[in-house]
Amino acid sequence: MAEGRKKRRKYEIPEGKTIRGVKVALDPTPRQAGLLSSNAGAARFAYNTALAHISNQLDCVEPAPSSGKADWSMRGLRNWWNRWKNDLAPWWAGNSKEAYNSGFQALSDAFRNYFDWLNGDREGEPVGWPKYKSKHKSTWKYTYTTGFGLIDGDDRAVRLPCVGRVHCMENVRKCVGDGRILSVTVRYEHNRWWASLRVEKDQPPQATGLSGSVGADLGVKTLVTLSNGIVIPNPRYLKQTERKLERQQKRLSRRQPGSRRYAKKKRQVNKLYAHVANQRLDLRHKTTTWMANTYADIGIEDLNVKGMTARPKPKEDPNNPGHYLKNGAKAKSSLNKAILDAGFGDFRRQLEYKCQQTGSRLHVYDRFYPSSKTCSNCGTVKTKLPLSERVFHCDNCGIKLDRDRNAANNLDPVGSTPARNVRGETQRGLRKTNTPVGRKRIPCRPTERKTRSRIGNGNPMPATQQTEL
Ligand SMILES: [Zn+2]
Repeated sequence: MAEGRKKRRKYEIPEGKTIRGVKVALDPTPRQAGLLSSNAGAARFAYNTALAHISNQLDCVEPAPSSGKADWSMRGLRNWWNRWKNDLAPWWAGNSKEAYNSGFQALSDAFRNYFDWLNGDREGEPVGWPKYKSKHKSTWKYTYTTGFGLIDGDDRAVRLPCVGRVHCMENVRKCVGDGRILSVTVRYEHNRWWASLRVEKDQPPQATGLSGSVGADLGVKTLVTLSNGIVIPNPRYLKQTERKLERQQKRLSRRQPGSRRYAKKKRQVNKLYAHVANQRLDLRHKTTTWMANTYADIGIEDLNVKGMTARPKPKEDPNNPGHYLKNGAKAKSSLNKAILDAGFGDFRRQLEYKCQQTGSRLHVYDRFYPSSKTCSNCGTVKTKLPLSERVFHCDNCGIKLDRDRNAANNLDPVGSTPARNVRGETQRGLRKTNTPVGRKRIPCRPTERKTRSRIGNGNPMPATQQTEL
């Protein structure tokens, strides 16, 4: 379908520029909040109506959907809308045309992904037919590609088409600097309206004074263990919010779904969830920024988060076919939660782009590289190492070491012994490195201080030295 049609023109980042995201919380007046909801609703309406239209058309076409004549391209959908909008939505003029367009854009992207997958042009997970967006379950959002802007002499505000000047909780101009705003996405999240600005900026100068190399082992018990002994623990304040969250959840469970009191409690619970998520995100950002600004080489493992958190395979009872034995699914579910909570995937994503900015080299090891099972002293690989074993004890050289520290040592791209398998071959699975460059940027090094202080803003990381066992 839509063969020979030009693919969507892709924006290319100009030489010497980089794209940064700036996300600010909006502080709309009640009238403006209503307008934002209305626009987000318009985007959803456009998406759902167009999806119904395309689905209807394809139902009439035999035999396969791919032979259909329905035009799901962005331009096709827009033309269709402009022809019929007076009948479909006589109220259309009340919202920005960009709101409808973002609905069509989302739908045409969804169709492209689906048909690409169907034709084998797309790798990865199977993509299904686009689904309708629910008012209650989907994220309320839409994008402006023109007409928005900052206001001169009014740094804490953005100008949005159809809405006007919207007050922001932060100094947007300071965040944007001299960058060019390409688009603004407005969304409702965590009981708040947000604006995400896509900003084209000059490439920042690269950092100088990066030195040393570390391996970083991401863990559930501690957030990060570095091979030089620095440990970034999972902080206590997270636990506190989690306890509060548990209590509120319990209260919510005792209220009648659909009632006003239920809705009120639900809002409070959501707010707490957002708070926990923000605390974790904050710590992740500070840790990765500090690492990328400190070390010249960083080694991490390519963690297969999806595989790690997958449901364990069902175990069939050999004596009783059709019946299943316990497979530890329940026990694993809490570990899964811990893994997803720790945000390993996001940790790596952040390190990747931050290292590129500072000029630190990121080494990502193959996910099959046995960083935990290998002795960092002599290179012997253990065949088995249960998760409960917190101390690594090598049978070959007799070394005793914290489990995470041992793994971190193995991930150190410069200092570690390459792992050897039973045949004495090295198994080091270095997969990729980003372009090595020596660069400069304001180094945000940890200073020697033993007070409990916050990370970021030049403050030291709460690093505790680990004693070897
Ligand atoms: Zn050993």
